[in-house]
Amino acid sequence: MSIQFAKTQQLDKAEDAKSLKRWLYVSLVRLAFRNNLANISVNFAAGFGFVLIIWSSGYGNNGFLATWLATLLVLSLARLAHSVWVMRRLRAEPDITQERLRPHVVLYATGLLLAATLWGIMTVTAVLDGDGEGRHAALVIISALAAGATGILAPQLVIGRLYISAMLLQGSVALVFTDPPQYLMAGLGVVFTIVMLIAHRNNHQVLRQSFELQYRNNDLVTKLEAERNLLENLNATLEARVRQRTVQLREQAAQDPLTRVLNRSGLMQWCAEQEELVTSTTGFAAIFIDLDRFKQINDGLGHTVGDIVLVEVARRLSAALGKHGALGRWGGDEFVAIVPTPPEGAANWAAALASRMRFAVEEPIAVAGRPLQVGFSAGIAVTCNDRLSVKGAIHRADLAAGDAKRKGRGFTEVYREKLLAEQERNLALVQALKHAVANGELSVVFQPVVLAGSHAVHCHEALLRWNSPDFGPVGPDEFIPIAEDTGEIVAIGAFVLDAALREIMRSSGPGGHSRLAVNVSLRQLIAPGFFDIVRSSLERHQAHPADLVLEVTESIFDTRSQPLIRAVLQELHLYGVEIHIDDFGTGYSSLSRLHEMPVQALKIDRSFVQALDSHGRAIIEGTALIARKLGIAIVAEGVETSRQAAQLEELGIEYLQGYLFGRPSPSLVMLPQSKSA
Ligand code: C2E
Ligand code: CA
Ligand code: CA
Repeated sequence: MSIQFAKTQQLDKAEDAKSLKRWLYVSLVRLAFRNNLANISVNFAAGFGFVLIIWSSGYGNNGFLATWLATLLVLSLARLAHSVWVMRRLRAEPDITQERLRPHVVLYATGLLLAATLWGIMTVTAVLDGDGEGRHAALVIISALAAGATGILAPQLVIGRLYISAMLLQGSVALVFTDPPQYLMAGLGVVFTIVMLIAHRNNHQVLRQSFELQYRNNDLVTKLEAERNLLENLNATLEARVRQRTVQLREQAAQDPLTRVLNRSGLMQWCAEQEELVTSTTGFAAIFIDLDRFKQINDGLGHTVGDIVLVEVARRLSAALGKHGALGRWGGDEFVAIVPTPPEGAANWAAALASRMRFAVEEPIAVAGRPLQVGFSAGIAVTCNDRLSVKGAIHRADLAAGDAKRKGRGFTEVYREKLLAEQERNLALVQALKHAVANGELSVVFQPVVLAGSHAVHCHEALLRWNSPDFGPVGPDEFIPIAEDTGEIVAIGAFVLDAALREIMRSSGPGGHSRLAVNVSLRQLIAPGFFDIVRSSLERHQAHPADLVLEVTESIFDTRSQPLIRAVLQELHLYGVEIHIDDFGTGYSSLSRLHEMPVQALKIDRSFVQALDSHGRAIIEGTALIARKLGIAIVAEGVETSRQAAQLEELGIEYLQGYLFGRPSPSLVMLPQSKSA
């Protein structure tokens, strides 16, 4: 590395010296030519003056004088023309090379030496033929010209030397040949020549040094400038890079890396920017979208599939939203869309948009060759009522989405004023419910299920009640979903089973026989040890497994845990416990898959019973037909009138339940009791 560096430096130095030499050569030549103009004019003027002096002193050879002067004139003009031409070339071609200049230097030298020769001829002639005045004039002029040449010819060392020597020595030599020979003058001429040559050399050296200095100076300036430019460029590129990176970072900071839609902070930033544009007449709607059962996709099919689904959902939501709003990923499977709304009917407008989004998202997504269906629960809130901030609207939309989810998923709810209060109550209930079992706030009531026709009591359904010291009686429709969400239902369910079995065994007395139906949530079924809980409860109260019915909902068909559930239900079935499907017809359409689970009865939801005079009848009829083929019994719940009872009996429904036969009550209706199953 260091050797390489040293070599490079050496090369640089050699290169530098070469370039200095070239520069010096060209600069000196350029100066020589510039000076040449002065040299030529002085030379000619001196020649002219000298001829005048000699002529006026009475020198008779006018022909010689005229020829000499004419020759000097021609030579001077030629030299002048050449110099002017070369200087032009130099101006036009600043980078001219040494090689290209050399012939011109030779011509220049030739011109000078020819001039020196002319002067030599004249001096020798004047010294040898002239009188004292002409000789002295010649010597003075020659000396003056030579002295001037020490400066004017300083750029050219060798040529200058030749010129000076040629000018002075010819006169000195001629002085030896005068009659009498003027040795002293000749010696003085030689000494003078040497002095002039020394002066010329010194001048040349000073000039050279000053040129060299100028070169170094220029070089330094150029290098400094180059370095400054480099630094400036570097700074500029650095600045540009920093700016670009900042933009990138800001974009990245605002973007969800998976789905490429905005992330939470990106969305908030967008809102902040938009809010400045909001006028009193326009506003925004926040649509909070919470995917339904996304956890099941993630758990059951893996996170890669989950990611694909999220990306595709984001893409479809974006497409449905169009250009006018912003979409952000709020959390795991939550998205938030913010859209400017028209001044009138903002909430309805947003609801229409939400249903377009639902339409787009519910189209099956093909993942690894199989279609996956994804739905969502959504909440909507608008800013224009209540001068709400967008952030506030998102919060409200979130509450509304939670409400939609509780109502059974797949809905869009618009935020209502009461929702906040409901949400707060919900949170408080979550806390209160944690201690409800231990505090003895829960109890069980019983509602009879009767045989069609005879209306004899076939069994009792245990229904849970909660009397909270803080909230008073809380209905199971309100607190059971909360218990399911928090997982509390596992402990609560065990309590119900135990309390109901105790009561039923107590009421029926020793040797008595009474059947019991208990509602079971999905969460209980998939919690570890459910079978053991059931068996130990039965054993504890010395009840027979065949006297217990477990009511499960259709949700058992709509879960990734199906194999586990089937195994648990199978185990219970083999043990002797009956399995009924509750609220049949409200959830997942499971008729075609009934045979996959060990099911002994369907409980047709009371909404169909209430709609017996309209669509309810056809549904009950159809369900009864298939159930009969599968050997499955049917229970109709919510029977309030004898007309309904008669209609259901006519359709061949085996069991009936409803206010008509008895409301849920703490005490069991023991008579008349049916003995058949
Ligand atoms: P469900 O299992 O469908 O229970 C029947 C519900 O219908 C009961 O409401 C009952 O009071 C009501 N009902 C009975 N006959 C009639 C009638 O003729 N007309 C009308 N309008 N309603 C009638 P309840 O007791 O409020 O229970 C509501 C739901 O709470 C239950 O629906 C069940 O899903 C759930 N639940 C109650 N107790 C438990 C429990 O111990 N565990 C679980 N997991 N869920 C329970
Ligand atoms: Ca039930
Ligand atoms: Ca039911």
